[in-house]
Amino acid sequence: MASKTWDYIAKIVMIGDSACGKSSLTIRLTDNTFNEVHDVTIAAEIGSKIVPVDEGVFIKLQIWDTAGQEHYRAVTRSYFRNATGCLLVYDVTRRETFEHVQEWLADLRAQADPEISVLLVGNKCDLADSQRQVSVAEAREWAAANGLMDFVETSAKTGDRVEEAYLQVAREIYYKIKGGRFDLADKAHGIKINQAKYQGGLAADDAGAGRRCC
Ligand code: GDP
Ligand code: MG
Repeated sequence: MASKTWDYIAKIVMIGDSACGKSSLTIRLTDNTFNEVHDVTIAAEIGSKIVPVDEGVFIKLQIWDTAGQEHYRAVTRSYFRNATGCLLVYDVTRRETFEHVQEWLADLRAQADPEISVLLVGNKCDLADSQRQVSVAEAREWAAANGLMDFVETSAKTGDRVEEAYLQVAREIYYKIKGGRFDLADKAHGIKINQAKYQGGLAADDAGAGRRCC
C-alpha cells in the first residue's frame, strides 16, 4: 500500500490524556507492531500512511502523535492548527481520561480547521470487563451530543479496529474534499493536493464546487 501514489495529504492529530495509547495506535497503524513499554512522547512525533478512500483514490495521512501531559499542552495546541482529522483517545479502563475528552475537544476546536473530523476512540478494549470504567453506550451518547463523527473502541495491543478507525476519518475527510468544504488553494491548509497528478484540474474543480469564501 505504501507504494501507492497519494492524491491528497491530510493532517491528523492524536489527542487525549497521557498513556491512553495514542502512540501505540499510531505505531499499530504505521508499523503493525505493539510495545508493552510506555515511551513518553516528547511534544509530538509524526507518522504517515497512505490509505484508500475510494476506487483508485488514496489519502496520505500525516499523523501528529502529540504528548498528553499538561506541561506540553501549549506546544500541543500549536500542532492542532490546520488539522483536518483527529482521533480523540481515552482509555476505557481509566474513567478520568474519558472525563477529560471534553477539555481536549474544546482545545482542539479553538485551533483546528472548523471542518475537522473528530472520531472518539476508546482504547484498550482488550482488557478484562472487570477493569472497564466507561460503557460503550455512554461514550456513544457523548460523541453524538458533541458533534463528533462517530465513536469506536479499539485495541492497539491486538490491532482490533485500529486501521478501521483511521480509515473512517480518512473517508470522512475525502467526502468533505469532494463536497468542496476545504479551500484547497490555501497553502496554509491541512489538506495538500497532489498537483503532479491533478495539475490543478479534476480534483481542484471537484473541490471548488461548494468552496467557502472565507
Ligand atoms: P500515549 O501516552 O497515549 O501515547 O500512550 P502509549 O501508546 O505510550 O501507551 C501507554 C501504555 O498503554 C503502554 O504501556 C502501552 O503498552 C499500553 N497500551 C496502549 N494501547 C493499549 C491497548 O490497546 N491495550 C493494552 N492492554 N495496553 C495498551
Ligand atoms: Mg505517546
